[in-house]
Amino acid sequence: MGSRKRRYYDIFWICLCLFGLYWFTASFFLAKRSLAERSSCDEAATLLTEVLGLTLEEVRDLESSQILSSPSQERNGCWMDRKIDSLVILVVDALRFDFAYYNLPNSVGRRLKPEHEVREGSNRTQAKARLFQFVADPPTVTMQRLKALTTGGLPTFADISANMGGATVEEDSWMHQVVTIDGRNRGLSAHRARMGFVGDDTWEDLFPGFFAESYPYPSFNTRDLDTVDNGCLKHIFNMLSRIRTRASVTEDLEVIVVHFLGVDHVGHTYGPHNQHMDAKLKEMDGALSKILDRLDKSDSCHTTFIFGDHGMTEDGNHGGGTAEETHAALFVHSSPVCGESAEWDQLEETVSVSELVKEAQFSSIHQIDLVSTISMTLGLPIPYANLGSFVPALVPGEDVRRTTAALALNAAQIWRYFNVYSATANRLSGLDDLALKLKTAVDLYKDALREDKEAGISVEAYLRASSHFKVFLRECLDLGQRVWTRFDTLLA
Ligand SMILES: [Zn+2]
Repeated sequence: MGSRKRRYYDIFWICLCLFGLYWFTASFFLAKRSLAERSSCDEAATLLTEVLGLTLEEVRDLESSQILSSPSQERNGCWMDRKIDSLVILVVDALRFDFAYYNLPNSVGRRLKPEHEVREGSNRTQAKARLFQFVADPPTVTMQRLKALTTGGLPTFADISANMGGATVEEDSWMHQVVTIDGRNRGLSAHRARMGFVGDDTWEDLFPGFFAESYPYPSFNTRDLDTVDNGCLKHIFNMLSRIRTRASVTEDLEVIVVHFLGVDHVGHTYGPHNQHMDAKLKEMDGALSKILDRLDKSDSCHTTFIFGDHGMTEDGNHGGGTAEETHAALFVHSSPVCGESAEWDQLEETVSVSELVKEAQFSSIHQIDLVSTISMTLGLPIPYANLGSFVPALVPGEDVRRTTAALALNAAQIWRYFNVYSATANRLSGLDDLALKLKTAVDLYKDALREDKEAGISVEAYLRASSHFKVFLRECLDLGQRVWTRFDTLLA
C-alpha cells in the first residue's frame, strides 16, 4: 500500500472511531439523570391544588373528613394517615414465583387457604394473605433491585457498572423518608423512627447508617450457602421482640428488613432443582412460618412483605430479562388486628369499565409499585422520582375514598417529577398525551367528590376515577421505560 493511500486509510479509521465514540456517549448521556429534590411531609394540599388543579375547597373537605392529613390538625401521617403499626420486609433473594407457590407450604401455602384462622383468646380473627407475581426490570441483580424497591426508579445504564463496587442511594427513597421525617408527624412518640436490619450487606452499602440496629453479613461468596441465613435467624427473633406496637412509647423498630441469601447461592452453586434447593427452601419455610406466627399473635397491626428481589434461570443464574429472572414472588400478609379491607378486586369487577382500563389493573405487580404502597402504608410522602403505582390490594383496611385519594397523590407526585425533569434535565416527549389522560382522571375525581358531598358516597364514581388514575400511572411507567431503560442508539 502506498504511503498516501495508507494515510487516507488511517484517517478513515480515526474518523470512524471518533464517530463511534460520539454515538456511544450521546446515547449514554441520554440515560436518566438523578434529581436532588425530595418530597416533603406537608405538601399534599399543594400537590392536589397546584399539580392536579383541585380547588382549595375540595382539598379542605378532604382534610376535614381526615382523608388527607394536614399540618393544622393532629395527625398520624404526612400526606395520609399511616395504616399499620410496623412493617417487616423479608427478602428471600432469588425467590421465584414457583418456589413460593409450591415449596413454602407452611409459611405461604397454609395462609393462602381461606379457612386459615388465628385463635386469639376466644375471638377467632383472620389474618389476610395474598400471593402475587412480582415483576422486576432488568438487570435482575440485587443492588439494582434494592434501589428500585426503595426509590421507585428505573435502572439506568450508568448504574449497571456500579453493581460491583457499591454505591449509596442519592435519590429520594422511602428509607430516607423514614429516618428524616419527624416521627411525631406520623403518630410516633419519638422524633426519629428506628429501623432494624439483618442479612445481605448490600443494604448497608446502599444506605450506610440508616439502620439504628444492623447486622450485615458479606454476600460475595456464592458457594457459602448458610452464613447469611444463619445470621438472619440468630438476630430476627430478638429484633421482633423490639418491633413497634400500638402501645410503644419510644425506641422500638418501626421497620425491620431481613435479607436471606441462601436460595440465591444454592441456585448459583447447584441450580434450582436438586436436594440442596429442597433443603434450603424447607429451612426458609420453617423460618418464615415462625416469624409470621409470632406476628399473628401480636395485638398490633404488622404488615409483612415476603419477596424475591429477582428470580433465576434453569441453570441458577440471573441478571438478564427472561421471565424466569424477572418474575419473582411477592407474598403479603397482615396480622389479624389490621382488620379487613374491602375486596378491592371484587369491587372493581362490579363496575363496567373499558377494556383499556381493565388491562391496566394490577393482576401482577411491578416491583416498583411496592414503593408508593410502602410510603402510603407508613404515612410517608411518596419519593420524589418514584414511577410506581399505589396498590390498594396490599394495604389493610383500605376503602374507596382513601384509595382514590392515594392514587391522586401518586399521580400528582409523578406528574410533578416528569415536568420538573423535562424542564431541568432532558426534555421528555409524550407529555401532552399524558396530560390529557391525567385531566380525564382528575375530572372524574372531581365528579366523585361533588357527588359524595351532595348526595353521599358513590362507590362507582370513585372507582371510575381511580381506574383512570391507574391508567395514567401505568402510561407514565411506559414512558419512563421507553425513555430510560432502552439504550437509545438513534438519539431519538
Ligand atoms: Zn445471585
